[in-house]
Amino acid sequence: MTQKILVLPGDGIGPEITAQASRILVACQARGLDVEIDDGLLGGAAYDVHGEPLPAETLEKAKAARGILLGAVGGPKWDTIEDLAKRPEKGLLGVRKQLGLFGNLRPAITYPQLAQASSLKPELVAGLDIMIVRELTGGIYFGQPRGIEERDGERVGFNTYVYSESEIERIGRVAFEMAQKRDKKLCSVDKANVLEVTILWREVMERLASEYPDVELSHMYVDNAAMQLVRAPKQFDVVVTGNMFGDILSDAAAMLTGSIGMLPSASLNESGQGMYEPCHGSAPDIAGQNVANPLATILSVAMMLRYSLNEPALASRIEKAVGKVLDDGLRTADIASQGTRTVSTTAMGDAVVAAFERQ
Ligand code: NAD
Repeated sequence: MTQKILVLPGDGIGPEITAQASRILVACQARGLDVEIDDGLLGGAAYDVHGEPLPAETLEKAKAARGILLGAVGGPKWDTIEDLAKRPEKGLLGVRKQLGLFGNLRPAITYPQLAQASSLKPELVAGLDIMIVRELTGGIYFGQPRGIEERDGERVGFNTYVYSESEIERIGRVAFEMAQKRDKKLCSVDKANVLEVTILWREVMERLASEYPDVELSHMYVDNAAMQLVRAPKQFDVVVTGNMFGDILSDAAAMLTGSIGMLPSASLNESGQGMYEPCHGSAPDIAGQNVANPLATILSVAMMLRYSLNEPALASRIEKAVGKVLDDGLRTADIASQGTRTVSTTAMGDAVVAAFERQ
């Protein structure tokens, strides 16, 4: 059955990088991928046309799509919109919420060719391949009650850190299944020495572990996990954690790899429908200059093929093409170093498509 894919270029460098990623999708179509590709407006680009960051038409297309490829949203042009509900990022949050995208997959991979770019010693990060599974729709970012109010003559700010068993189980299953497909090691990160909500988190992970006997489950407190990530990151295979801890740890892990321009991500719901996007933002400082790195977006297409379209062979083919282009010494400016050849966004796209075709 023909599946639908929706491309949402968004703002800033979004249109430039999704254009290159779309070329890879078209190359996959030529190799038998049965998809129909459409596009839509999201974020500031949608606000400029429709006066809102998530128009009904885009939402409808998103709901019908098996995979959504997003560039990035936001930029200074829209930072002064007074109504916060109309800001570009609300468009992104709206898609996540409406589609129930609770499972955020954030791989941190250091290509050996780029190990020098990491802030850690190359031997600590070369060959690094961690998958952080972050719960995305619950936890302290969404818990009620929340607010700032007057109590005993002073203002008090408060939030609620809450997870139900079913929410924990749902993300736990994503993580165990991910570990089964990888090195079968899962580390659950919590703060069970202090927070009841994560005592429950740990209990549910333990219960699930009996259903996945091939996966070795371990637990780590979040402060230790942060330390271990910068001390010996290669000890991790899959990490599962809640929304806030995952937010912080996945950014730290991203930096281990040396370049934000290389990192894809996925956000999935229970039916495997997903939104795929680079980890970086819309980079307004370099927008329109044909210098942005399109590889994170191209690698997001590979994730879409693997996790929503069940096409692991095509996904590997894209990943190999990216590796080949790096082997050949091609780099966009953000990852350039001595002895490499700096190329434009479009030239990088050309090279990846050519390497994909040559395999
Ligand atoms: P950013 O990731 O856009 O940029 C940070 C730095 O990294 C900049 O110097 C930028 O030029 C560089 N960079 C980012 N992606 C690159 C790429 N592909 N190739 C080369 N260099 C790249 O983060 P920021 O500057 O904090 O945010 C800019 C805008 O993006 C803001 O409006 C922010 O709200 C938005 N944003 C959107 C998303 C999203 O859509 N998911 C995520 C983060 C930030």
